[in-house]
Amino acid sequence: MPKPDPVLVVGTVAYDTVKTPFQDTERALGGSALYFSASASLFTDVHLVSVVGGDFDLNELNPLQERGVNLDGLHVEDDGQTFHWSGEYHYDMNTRTTHATDLNVLETFQPHVPEPAQATPLAFLANIDPTLQTLVLDQLTNQPLVAADTMNYWIENTPSELKNTLTRVDTLIINDEEARELANTPNLVEAMHRIQALGPDVITVKKGEHGSILMHQDEWFTAPAFLHADVTDPTGAGDAFAGGFMGTLASTDTITHQALRKATVYGTAAASIVIEDFGPRALLDATRDDLEQRAKDLARYAKFPPVGKPTPT
Ligand code: AMP
Repeated sequence: MPKPDPVLVVGTVAYDTVKTPFQDTERALGGSALYFSASASLFTDVHLVSVVGGDFDLNELNPLQERGVNLDGLHVEDDGQTFHWSGEYHYDMNTRTTHATDLNVLETFQPHVPEPAQATPLAFLANIDPTLQTLVLDQLTNQPLVAADTMNYWIENTPSELKNTLTRVDTLIINDEEARELANTPNLVEAMHRIQALGPDVITVKKGEHGSILMHQDEWFTAPAFLHADVTDPTGAGDAFAGGFMGTLASTDTITHQALRKATVYGTAAASIVIEDFGPRALLDATRDDLEQRAKDLARYAKFPPVGKPTPT
């Protein structure tokens, strides 16, 4: 089997303060690019582009490096503070409230993609300022397959920059609440049509414990979430999903509808692992075999019996 293509990610590396109804954690490792890398590195090599402050303990990234994440694109701003996000999950562990988004070093960050990573064939613009997402796109040379994510913070604060990003990406991976907000409609199917009209051909909407919907041109697929009795912290589920999605496409020659369905299943499997613990720990402890087993379990749950009208005997 040929080696899978590497994936480039730009996004946040963060310290997160997370509260759930059952436990909490303060200034733990997080960030969209970090969760994405922990997931995608189960499939292929990853180039990470991000920024941290002088307060960041770089040793925390050793497990990622050991798994093939190249950190040459991680800028350390010695005089600054690392991006910090604080959020709280409600009783259903499916909805959350953001308490603080401290941009810190992100406010002045100018991303630079190291030369060897500029020809990466797959790129993921994880949740970060859309202006930075496009600055990264400008540096890529190989017409990559580009997917993006975003969040209510950017939908509300930088709407025109975000629309500009959307004109340049092939795929948007977004959660249900944000899809409704971005498209300004309560109906998800209508929202996906409206988002497609803004640029991307492929839209994946994640609905937490209710699974996800894939729209590819005019074809649809829905995948249930893994049936989990052990949800510790849902933070990073979306980025882990994206890592599994892009990681799967890294081994795919042609992006067919079937390939996108498979990517959705592996994204779901990766997301179901990260939520078992705080931060990226569960994903970093997982092996590719664990992930394969999770994907198989999912396929088993989701299998329909043959449908059709009974034939008279
Ligand atoms: P997810 O749960 O997949 O939506 O991702 C959560 C991660 O996104 C956390 O680790 C946060 O540090 C990071 N994050 C939260 N808000 C933002 C934001 N406005 N921009 C970029 N990253 C963010």
